[in-house]
Amino acid sequence: MPLDEHLIKAALHAGAARATVIPGGQVVLSSAFRDMCQANACGKYGKCYMCPPDVGEIEGLMAIVRGYPMALAYQSISPLEDSFDFEGMEAAGLKHVRLSQRLGKALKELLVPGYLHLTCGGCRLCESCLKPEGLPCRFPDEAMPSVESYGIDVYNTVKGTGLKYINGTNTVTYFGMVFFHPQEA
Ligand code: SF4
Repeated sequence: MPLDEHLIKAALHAGAARATVIPGGQVVLSSAFRDMCQANACGKYGKCYMCPPDVGEIEGLMAIVRGYPMALAYQSISPLEDSFDFEGMEAAGLKHVRLSQRLGKALKELLVPGYLHLTCGGCRLCESCLKPEGLPCRFPDEAMPSVESYGIDVYNTVKGTGLKYINGTNTVTYFGMVFFHPQEA
């Protein structure tokens, strides 16, 4: 089976609703996402090692993404009670991060080291990040930054693929991406 198919199958097996592999040149990037993080609507700016500014300077992170020839994009779709169901959104975010962790284990068997795995915003591996306490990250090998923190414009990146950005009333969709060189492990 070609590597692309293995990766898509692994994402679906981990719990993704849909997944696809695209060329790196199709990834749309914009530093405007850093401005959105700085606006701090989520309250995590400066409070998590995987969020800005700790995650790194935006131009450097976008340059890293540009260095990968291929990308796996996957999504999870979760129901909400209504558009103000913030608890449901948080639960769906946690569910997506758990999906990313399961996929992360499978990736170790499929890809050569050096790939980059990004998930939805605000590392949720710990109940609360140790950054505000000034203590080191608990799980530096597992913590994953968000696609937005690397300047990825997910909406325009997945346009034209089978992955829709909006998936119906009272649903929330989260994305993850894996950037890789096409050599099997
Ligand atoms: S693994 Fe824990 S300590 Fe590390 S960035 Fe994520 S939430 Fe913070």
